[in-house]
Amino acid sequence: MAEYARPLPLPDSDSQAYWNGTHEHELRAQRCATCNRLRWPPQGFCPHCYSWDFTWDTLRQTGSVQSYVVVHQAHPAFANEAPYAVARVVIDETDAAVVLISSLVDTPWEEVKVGMPVEAVFDDVTPDVTLPRFRPTAGASPPAPAGA
Ligand code: ZN
Repeated sequence: MAEYARPLPLPDSDSQAYWNGTHEHELRAQRCATCNRLRWPPQGFCPHCYSWDFTWDTLRQTGSVQSYVVVHQAHPAFANEAPYAVARVVIDETDAAVVLISSLVDTPWEEVKVGMPVEAVFDDVTPDVTLPRFRPTAGASPPAPAGA
């Protein structure tokens, strides 16, 4: 396997379990053990009730595009992919508490739409690191524009 030449995440004590989850092809988020809300991003204490206690939930692997940008002038490591879309993806069934920023794969940037349903794909970029990305959900069509 060729060496991966792009930036990699640097997990810390709060996010390590999240990255362990992506390595197992799961999306995970902390759930406060006191107020029961999801915490995102992983952090030491609950921003709602300040509890330090939590468990890890396994999330749905689907979501929708909340917004996106199209990158034309990319970091040198990504220059051969430009232009490409990077989206804010709201994960389903999280009350919009979990939003991931991700490149969109398997779709030309011209076809990306706000509200587009997407699903996670897991890219094992090194033996230890797996990056979640998103692609349009198979068979789904984007929502009709308002007023259509
Ligand atoms: Zn809480």
